Amino acid sequence: MSPIIENTDVVVVGGGPGGSTVATLLARRGHRVVLLEKETFPRYQIGESLLPSTVHGIGRLLGVTEELEKASFMVKRGGSFRWGTNPVPWNFLFAVAPELSGPTSFAYQVERMKFDEILLRNAAKHGVDVRENSPVTGVIDDAERVRGVRYTDPDGIEHEIHATFVVDASGNRSRVHQHAGGDRIYSEFFRNIALFGYFEGGKRLPAPDSGNILCAAFDEGWIWYIPLSDTLTSVGAVISREHAARLQGDQEQALLGFVDRCAIVKDFLSDATRVAEGVYGELRTRKDYSYTNSTFHRPGMVLVGDAACFIDPVFSTGVHLATYAGLLAARSINSVLSGDVTEDRAFGEFEGRYRREYRVFYEFLSAFYDMQSNEDSYFWKARKVTNVATTDLEAFVSLVGGVHSGENALTAFRVSSGALADAVERTGDMQTPSGERMHHLFGTPVVREVMQEMNNIQVRGIQGAAARELPLLDGGLVPASDGLSWVEPAALLEEA
Ligand code: FAD
Repeated sequence: MSPIIENTDVVVVGGGPGGSTVATLLARRGHRVVLLEKETFPRYQIGESLLPSTVHGIGRLLGVTEELEKASFMVKRGGSFRWGTNPVPWNFLFAVAPELSGPTSFAYQVERMKFDEILLRNAAKHGVDVRENSPVTGVIDDAERVRGVRYTDPDGIEHEIHATFVVDASGNRSRVHQHAGGDRIYSEFFRNIALFGYFEGGKRLPAPDSGNILCAAFDEGWIWYIPLSDTLTSVGAVISREHAARLQGDQEQALLGFVDRCAIVKDFLSDATRVAEGVYGELRTRKDYSYTNSTFHRPGMVLVGDAACFIDPVFSTGVHLATYAGLLAARSINSVLSGDVTEDRAFGEFEGRYRREYRVFYEFLSAFYDMQSNEDSYFWKARKVTNVATTDLEAFVSLVGGVHSGENALTAFRVSSGALADAVERTGDMQTPSGERMHHLFGTPVVREVMQEMNNIQVRGIQGAAARELPLLDGGLVPASDGLSWVEPAALLEEA
């Protein structure tokens, strides 16, 4: 039987946070958007610890802030880390920029089944044609560009949807991204394996940090401990590939063995029981999740979220990168469809900003991982992080002194290195050499770069059209006043 053929403006593949974000922001500009999702929601997904820019920035642009509030997710004030040579956990707080502290200096720990469903149903409310149980089976293209997709509907009937743009937001395990060309390049540094499950009755950090993610290093890797409710906790061990064989046998024994060797998590789980039934009863593993594709777009197609890249879960960056990329892709497609910007220029801006965000996280996380190892190794990483061709000693001084300036487009709302360093709570235990180094790491330019763009998104969410930005890239574009497309910087000045 020949397939049913339809036409639309944009097809989005995948209904995770990346797909729902881009679809909603395209529909808000009046475009016809079909979102194809292979599962029926709610569906399980890992990635439960969020950042404030997703909750308050993207959340407001999508119009879901109140719904997220009503969902009673666990409030996350920051992260607590048993990391480095310091035996006592220290805190990283979100209340870093005075302008953003208070009502927006928190994020949520979310059950992704609930969070992702809120975003997907919200896309439908904005006019996106959401089709679940509808896996994409192929991409329609020719030498010039991608022109649509094939999918199977819930009755097994084949469809072809022809579209001006296809957005691949189908996550880590889908192969749709291959149609964008290029290769998937795996990070050797972060080529880890995660083994995770859920526990009832685990202890909590003392208030006000009881909703924090706790990341605790141990000899073979590190463990995340994410409070999802007063009683339910997500617990996962991240270990290096060399230990993969240990996950082949009894996974419960393997996870409990890792917990046993991590004193603080062992103590927190001493009265807890592992959930053994239902969706949280399964122990799961994920490997080879840190990679970047060599290209994020080709004419007619763009990759968003895990379809394009992911680094490592330690700083909860996955949903941020997916929703940030969703915003950037929506701006680019909106600009091209309205005829205001060429496809090359719009997607050059998309890819430039997306790679920049990925790169600074990558460098920061590499340095952060190194904090757990020895002095020599941290010393070596300092040079890599600052990316300065100089001696190890100079690079180290530059890193910890926060003097390497790559960013001069600061606005009143950008965070300063000093404010970020102050985000690390300096308890008595922070007065150790490793505690001091950690404090300095958070005051470095690379961390500031990570936070600046996230702050921009938050400010735009809060202030809407009032927020004006300077180009982030040399000769680059800036967001239009509603934040949903790109304009030349000169056009924005004229408008003002
Ligand atoms: P997804 O959430 O994967 O959504 C993709 C969707 O596409 C899915 O619903 C899928 O069913 C659908 N799909 C797939 N193939 C097709 C197809 N052919 N047709 C139609 N639909 C399709 N991130 C955080 O922010 N915080 C964390 O604490 C965190 N912890 C993590 C821990 C681990 C061990 C790992 C591996 C990742 C973690 N992440 C975390 C990352 C996070 O899981 C992802 O970055 C995030 O889910 C990416 O969102 P997405 O929208 O790109 O993709």
